[in-house]
Amino acid sequence: MLQFWDFASQHTLVLTQVCRLRCYPCDLWKPQPPDPPSLSHVSSDRLSEALLDRSFFDLFPRVKTYHIVGGDPVESPVLDLLVTYLVAHRVRVVLWTTGVGLSGLESLTHVHQVVLMVPAIDRTQYREYTGWDGFESVMDGLQTCRHLKKKVLVATTVQAENLPFLPDIREWCWHHQVPWLMTFYASDMVSRDVLSHIYHYHHVAGVSVIRQRKPKPGVCVHVPYDALQSPWGWVWLVLGKYRRYLPWVR
Ligand code: SF4
Repeated sequence: MLQFWDFASQHTLVLTQVCRLRCYPCDLWKPQPPDPPSLSHVSSDRLSEALLDRSFFDLFPRVKTYHIVGGDPVESPVLDLLVTYLVAHRVRVVLWTTGVGLSGLESLTHVHQVVLMVPAIDRTQYREYTGWDGFESVMDGLQTCRHLKKKVLVATTVQAENLPFLPDIREWCWHHQVPWLMTFYASDMVSRDVLSHIYHYHHVAGVSVIRQRKPKPGVCVHVPYDALQSPWGWVWLVLGKYRRYLPWVR
């Protein structure tokens, strides 16, 4: 599960916009993707230069936790170098990935936590949502993390299309004994019934719910970028668990 320091002293770095998946709500694989947030991104060349001449912390803040996001960061040639550099500076790395190609990642042993982005657990639905017939690679990624005794969190973006399948995803997470983070965008949800259906997951063990207003342009849809960037994200995550007693918490 995400912890206090993952919000309170953190930075989110958009390492790449490359991703093998083609999730239908995502703009990154379309011909002209939006630019990533400028404070969270530099080109691969500039980044590797900063890592090699040790000026990385002149570009980005020195904090306790770095969330490495994309696209899929595993697609970046700089990832191994970046993780090694951060860990050498006692920074915790949380890697947000699709799981595709995770088993070949050399620096995985140094990663503190892996967040696997899983929009569906049925093979057909996964293929239809992501355009990638590779749910097995998610399973491979999970097994690899297990083998290396890595902390794993499964992240799912809730949309009207996968609402009926949320119980199945919850059961899959429970079966594999991994916590589950649900992100939903207020811009996607219109009905109060839908909202209360989602909010009831606040009270399910091993499940956390994050609400955002809308996806951050230029960043993977499954990453709750604004919530991670704010120390209040953690506060709302905790308050959500007690929402039934706090009617003003939305
Ligand atoms: S939403 Fe994320 S996982 Fe899906 S295609 Fe976009 S970057 Fe890849």
